[in-house]
Amino acid sequence: MNILTFDIEEWYIEKFYKEDEDFKYKAYDAQLDKILEALDENGIKATFFCLGGLAEYFPHVVKKIAAAGHEIGSHSNHHRWINKMTPEEFRKDTEGAVKALEDCTGMKVRSFRAPAFSIGEVNKWAFEILHEFGIENDASIFPGARDFGGFPSFTGGSNPCRITYNGITINEFPISLGNLPIVGRPIAYSGGGYFRLLPLSFVKNQIRKSDYTMCYFHILDILEIKSKFMTREEYEKYFEATGSLKNRLIRYCKSNIRRKRAFKGLTTLMHDFDFINIEKAAQSAGAFKEIVL
Ligand SMILES: [Zn+2]
Repeated sequence: MNILTFDIEEWYIEKFYKEDEDFKYKAYDAQLDKILEALDENGIKATFFCLGGLAEYFPHVVKKIAAAGHEIGSHSNHHRWINKMTPEEFRKDTEGAVKALEDCTGMKVRSFRAPAFSIGEVNKWAFEILHEFGIENDASIFPGARDFGGFPSFTGGSNPCRITYNGITINEFPISLGNLPIVGRPIAYSGGGYFRLLPLSFVKNQIRKSDYTMCYFHILDILEIKSKFMTREEYEKYFEATGSLKNRLIRYCKSNIRRKRAFKGLTTLMHDFDFINIEKAAQSAGAFKEIVL
């Protein structure tokens, strides 16, 4: 089972966290059109995790994706990380996001992905809140250690499963992790910065030998616009973490590496593999392993 997902946030981030530059909105719109076109050409329906704030300020983006027949999931309301929110804040955030997206498309939101995969051991309560607002499928777990959080104690690994926690059940579609000897820890090869960094043949091999691959992309992962070097203030506002020179340099390199080949790589995957969205994958949930948190 190969699942294709996109986290859609750039318009909102540009407006509220960056320079609010007109040419970027145009570039994002154009890139989204290219993605939708490629999906259509390959007969793929994907899941697009959109910010509730996007439905509020840039409804044309969400409407366009929904009109093309793709699943609209929630990627939170304002892209705040769940591990930096209290349960009450997360409840309000989820309620707002689900309502904004459902009002925008007229369709029920069933799937969720946390910004920066920010659900882990310390905030498992998030699943209860998601369930409260009708979320049946989650794709927030990074089943290993990472710079910002992750869920290394998660026993389900990189496989779809049914999580039970405090009497509720939710289908989980974690990110796929693979081992690269030179990195020395599991990495998320099927999207984001690592997808650009790794040879496409490595990614294709991993997909071929796995029963399950969760691919995840952002518009910015595949756009040919260079990200600028963030100031300390910008970094701290966005990441809510120390914007040291080292942290900012790492972020700069990660976000600009091998940008030109990314879209071509994505369309090659679309052509070479069968992908489904989360809504469709959840139809097999009866056969998933149960994981008690
Ligand atoms: Zn995001």
